[in-house]
Amino acid sequence: MSTNEKKKYRISFLGEFIDKSMEDEFLDDNLGVSSKTTSYISLVFGFILGLFLFNSLFFDEKSLSFFNIVFIRLLFIFVSIIVFFILKKVKKHKNLIYIITLYQAIMVFTYLFTLKQFDSLNYFSFIGLMVITLAIYLLPNKIIFSQIITIVFSILFFLYPAHKIEGLKTNDFYRIIAYQIILLFYCNINYCCIETNKRKRFVANKELLNLSAKDPLTGIYNRMKFDDEINRWISFSERYGNSCSLILFDIDDFKGINDKYGHLIGDSVIIKIAETINKSIRDTDVFARWGGDEFVLLLPNTDIQQAKEMAERMRKSICNNSYEADIKITCSFGVANYEKNDTKQSLLRKADNLLLHAKENGKNRVSIS
Ligand code: GH3
Ligand code: MG
Repeated sequence: MSTNEKKKYRISFLGEFIDKSMEDEFLDDNLGVSSKTTSYISLVFGFILGLFLFNSLFFDEKSLSFFNIVFIRLLFIFVSIIVFFILKKVKKHKNLIYIITLYQAIMVFTYLFTLKQFDSLNYFSFIGLMVITLAIYLLPNKIIFSQIITIVFSILFFLYPAHKIEGLKTNDFYRIIAYQIILLFYCNINYCCIETNKRKRFVANKELLNLSAKDPLTGIYNRMKFDDEINRWISFSERYGNSCSLILFDIDDFKGINDKYGHLIGDSVIIKIAETINKSIRDTDVFARWGGDEFVLLLPNTDIQQAKEMAERMRKSICNNSYEADIKITCSFGVANYEKNDTKQSLLRKADNLLLHAKENGKNRVSIS
């Protein structure tokens, strides 16, 4: 891993990537799982509140506060169901974060509003405070928002409802504040560890994916990745009728170079050619090592004439390059154009035949269809 990549993959003590683009990439990648988790959790929360509602319908006194409580609980259940359905349609991680934050705030508000309806409270209210704190950290929000919501929630709770608890001694009051602080620490540490591990796994997967797509000697794409890309571009050309060309090229008399100068010098030639071509292509072009001393370049949105000119430029730049031990290097090129009904195999076959044609006609030349 390069130092640049290491810097990009650094994770803060809050368990998030320091690099914003990396964090966005991670959140986008996780969007499906996060929204699915949240939608099911919201359904469970709604169900739990349904049980409370059921309980109050049968056992609570039917006073004005009873109707307020029933109303706010029904509202919360309704919001939970909305969250469940709305999250199936979320396409951006930013929207998911807004929805989760709002839902967490509604959770806090519902609980505080319910407590406000009672004239006196008991110690169960503290359990409610702690359960809701845990519930907030169960949702995959940005940690800073969960922190703000739980801290504001705790302060509001200790400023207002806690004082309504019958027989609460000052000593006990401070002891419960201490418990809540411990719980907040626990939730934060737990959340940060889980998030850090998730991001470490994400980086490992990304690295693995990167490695599996690259040729170890040259660092350009390997044949496996090229196969994916060519399939993608062929279906694109098929659907939209865009032109697409393919250049296959091979180093001339490379066996002799290996035999004369050794494999290490041979390797340096392969690397130099890959570097030279890689520098001169567009972002959409797909350049790969086909195997041995053979390379392939896919040129989307490029007609045969443009591809031929490109191949000629490549031939000249490879020829004019300086290589170790002052070796003279040339390559032969086969340039084929995508035609309707071409498949990956037929396109590659055309390019391969043209490359063979270039070799048979004296090498260091471009053959086109
Ligand atoms: P032609 O002009 O017909 O292509 O002749 P050639 O000698 O280049 O023949 P060919 O392309 O069949 O030979 C490829 C050679 O490339 C054979 C192999 O020893 C060598 N080779 C394949 N992979 C590597 C590699 O990674 N490093 C080095 N140094 N040599 C390689
Ligand atoms: Mg060769």
